Amino acid sequence: MTPARRKITVLSGDGIGPEVVESALEIIKATGVAVEFEKCEAGARAFKNGIVTGIPKETIESIERTRVVLKGPLETPIGYGNRSANVTLRTLFETYGNIRPVRELPGVQTAFTGRKLDIVIVRENIEDLYAGIEYMQTPGVAEGLKLISREGCEKIVKLAFAFALAEGRQAVHCATKSNIMKLTEGLLQRTFEEFAPQYPTITSKHILIDNCAHQLAMRPEQFDVIVTTNMNGDILSDLTSGLTGGLGFAPSANIGNDVSIFEAVHGSAPDIAGKNKANPTALILSAAMMLRQIDEGKAANDVEQAVLVTLESGLRTSDMIGVDKPSTTTEFTRAVITNLGKQSKVSPPKDYRTVDLPPSQPGVNVVPAKARRLIGLDVYIETDLDPAKLAAALEPLAKPSPLRLQMITNRGAMVFPSSGRRISLVDHFRCRFVLREQAAVLGDVEILALLGTIGARHRWMHIEKLQEFDGEPAFSKSQVS
Ligand code: NAP
Repeated sequence: MTPARRKITVLSGDGIGPEVVESALEIIKATGVAVEFEKCEAGARAFKNGIVTGIPKETIESIERTRVVLKGPLETPIGYGNRSANVTLRTLFETYGNIRPVRELPGVQTAFTGRKLDIVIVRENIEDLYAGIEYMQTPGVAEGLKLISREGCEKIVKLAFAFALAEGRQAVHCATKSNIMKLTEGLLQRTFEEFAPQYPTITSKHILIDNCAHQLAMRPEQFDVIVTTNMNGDILSDLTSGLTGGLGFAPSANIGNDVSIFEAVHGSAPDIAGKNKANPTALILSAAMMLRQIDEGKAANDVEQAVLVTLESGLRTSDMIGVDKPSTTTEFTRAVITNLGKQSKVSPPKDYRTVDLPPSQPGVNVVPAKARRLIGLDVYIETDLDPAKLAAALEPLAKPSPLRLQMITNRGAMVFPSSGRRISLVDHFRCRFVLREQAAVLGDVEILALLGTIGARHRWMHIEKLQEFDGEPAFSKSQVS
């Protein structure tokens, strides 16, 4: 009896997607692994067919069955309309970790050739600003919520160290902007520093994200694995792909507890779509990562080695610097297939182990606090009053409550009490009310009463409770003007 074939959901995607996905599928077939492809729709065509998520029901059902996806890039409508189908897929299947490796490749000339770069970005993949929770708070002021959870940080930190161990890597950097976003970005830094001692064989270090970008441009060879938040990781991984030859060479794996999605870092590159010009390497290397994940380690190594041999043999793709006669997508694919079974002269197969994924936590994850206290309220008000007049109007409204107006900020800068310096204002003021007497008790009744009074005279659009957890303020302090 022939053994059952492992099923894989394939999304050809948009733009150059179908060309590079087809290339990877032909190469996988040529390795002889027992897999079967379920081709499904997603992206532009689905949007056009009126599916608001860009992911049809049949595609979701296929992914639930196969739990492994090889996907081409999906176009995202920019600045309007539907949410990204990519983000929807990652969120729907909770692929919380995005692993983006890059390394120096033979024949791919860059400013860093010869410096043996081999860097992996481990990017949190479902939280942060990419949760896409946005509001127009006034007609002229937009807000995006940057949500970072302790649960999300713990998972991505453990994944980064597990991946480093599996690949025999030496160091993990955690890159954040914790000096400015102490609570959100700081949560990743604190979680990283808490868990790093559990991995004594790996060097761990925190680095500020802006310095990380600078160091990557100056001395990238100092980095091995970099773990970071979603948006930082998105940007840094395009940067690291640029250091090693560009997006055409950068693969990725979106890892979840139930489903994993393998795709190139690049997008649909509509400018070169349908021209048989696209470099399929990124998708081919993503397919190798997929084969490794489904325990087809030999086939994964064969594919990777065949790509290296193809590049060593002098074949060049259209995106490589200084190329006169680039190979077409199909020529490159055929060469990789011909080179299956051959070994690279410069980069022999690595000894990969399975990544030991942190187990998923069922139910609602709670970080308990022994004590919590409500100590104030930020009310966001839309007005064209100047700050002094706004303060004069709000102060008497707070009199009957246990709260007093402490300050007003405009885009984070304190405008009341005034420093005397003039700044350019928008019609969006954060008005902070705090307890008049520290021992006073504040609850929803007092908050709602104050809001009702304010709302009768001013347009408010948003509030935040000011809390203390275990005696520590659970909100950012104001910036001094
Ligand atoms: P992009 O599609 O990655 O393309 C940027 C440029 O990189 C292309 O114009 C092309 O440059 C070059 N390039 C990318 N991949 C290449 C390849 N395989 N071979 C040769 N050259 C390649 O980025 P974008 O233009 O910002 O995004 C286009 C669309 O893709 C957007 O709708 C975006 O939302 C979507 N996108 C999807 C994903 C995903 O599905 N995961 C990721 C990123 C973006 P030249 O101009 O030099 O030819």
